[in-house]
Amino acid sequence: MRKLVRGGTVVTATHSSVADVLIDGEEITALGALGDVDAEVIDAGGCYVLPGLIDNHTHMAMPFGGTNSIDDYDTGTRAAAAGGTTCIVDFVIQQHPGGLRSSLEEWSDRAAGAAHVDYGFHIAITQADEGTFADMKPMVEAGICTFKVFLAYKDVLMVPDDLFLRVLESTRDLGALTMVHAENGWAIDVLVERALAAGQTDPIHHARTRPEVLEAEATHRSVRLAELAGAGVYIVHVTCGLAADEIAAGQSRGVDVSGETCLQYLTNTVDDLERPDFEGARYVCSPPLREARNQELLWAALDRGVLESVSTDHCPFNSDQKALGRDDFSKIPNGLAMIQHRLVKLWDLGVETGRITPEELVNMTSTAIAKRFGLARKGAIAPGKDADLVVFDPATPFEFSTRTSHMNVDYDLFEGQTSTGSVRQTFCRGELVYDRGEIRTQPGHGRFVPRSLGAPAPVAS
Ligand SMILES: [Zn+2]
Repeated sequence: MRKLVRGGTVVTATHSSVADVLIDGEEITALGALGDVDAEVIDAGGCYVLPGLIDNHTHMAMPFGGTNSIDDYDTGTRAAAAGGTTCIVDFVIQQHPGGLRSSLEEWSDRAAGAAHVDYGFHIAITQADEGTFADMKPMVEAGICTFKVFLAYKDVLMVPDDLFLRVLESTRDLGALTMVHAENGWAIDVLVERALAAGQTDPIHHARTRPEVLEAEATHRSVRLAELAGAGVYIVHVTCGLAADEIAAGQSRGVDVSGETCLQYLTNTVDDLERPDFEGARYVCSPPLREARNQELLWAALDRGVLESVSTDHCPFNSDQKALGRDDFSKIPNGLAMIQHRLVKLWDLGVETGRITPEELVNMTSTAIAKRFGLARKGAIAPGKDADLVVFDPATPFEFSTRTSHMNVDYDLFEGQTSTGSVRQTFCRGELVYDRGEIRTQPGHGRFVPRSLGAPAPVAS
């Protein structure tokens, strides 16, 4: 059965115009003034029709601090679809030394048959040894062309600089890309230990022990090591002007460095960590939320292309999980519940304020991400692309509430707020996944998407 999304304003990364979109099966087959077509008609009059958003930074059912993030691939991708996101790229976290395959299998098993929207994987290398380096090529061949290293979380996830450099060299040789969590884990641990010894146990001390300068330092180090290796590097969740400046400096020297920020660094500030009754714990993530002045600096970095995209780093924990750190901020599971709210929030903060155009919003939430992460069939509305579409109604508000949230978490960080627009419908590969508050698919509609960054550059011998 064909579907015709009729009469909406179709927005791409470069232009907007009123057009019909014809879907045949899983693909977009035509675009324009299509007139009478034998197809099921979806009226999009008065709405924007956007390419499905892509969230290249999520953590579903991720083990962290003795618990697991509370959204799995079923609930997390319901929430994704409810927010207009039709594809996620989630992080496999290496669990064992000696290779990557067992961890990939673990994550693949969790996702298989559960997801409502499509998904890919990055792999975080946490124990870079010879077996692990040997496994990188088969991972690239399996469609996992992006590898992450953490420069923070010492003794848990952190990779030291010698291994980081080797990961950069390997991704260079494999035509892959290294992503970096850029904070100086060594220095952070000194500050954390000192704070706890002084009895500073509240959530706010999470932020005070992870200052901007330690993010900037690790960002600088990442850029310089990438420069040394002649490798590309992508800095995840950039939170502040100081770190963006390091990326800009690298870019001006010709280093292949790019980066993203995440929604929460544009919507929230460090002040949220001081909310009473331990509510501040809901806002604990790393790097931490920053002072409000950084928000304008992040928008400026997006405007200049220093940062190219906005993801969510969705990694939600319920109140009882956050309570693991009631007496010690360093035991609060890190992560925020954000995946559903990126489009409506960026629309209000970006488009409604005039900071960005709808086209720029599409670029930073979909098109640029598809290009960077090798999702060739996604990120655009054009014949031959996957029929991943969002019908966005700019005039029907969305009320943020646990009642309207599809995230599996017992609070909503924007509870009581209302947005100007809302997601009306979300299609993933032609299938209506979300329709005005309801999820319409069964778990398993979403499929694994292999990705490729193209042929590796020839290696000098
Ligand atoms: Zn993350």
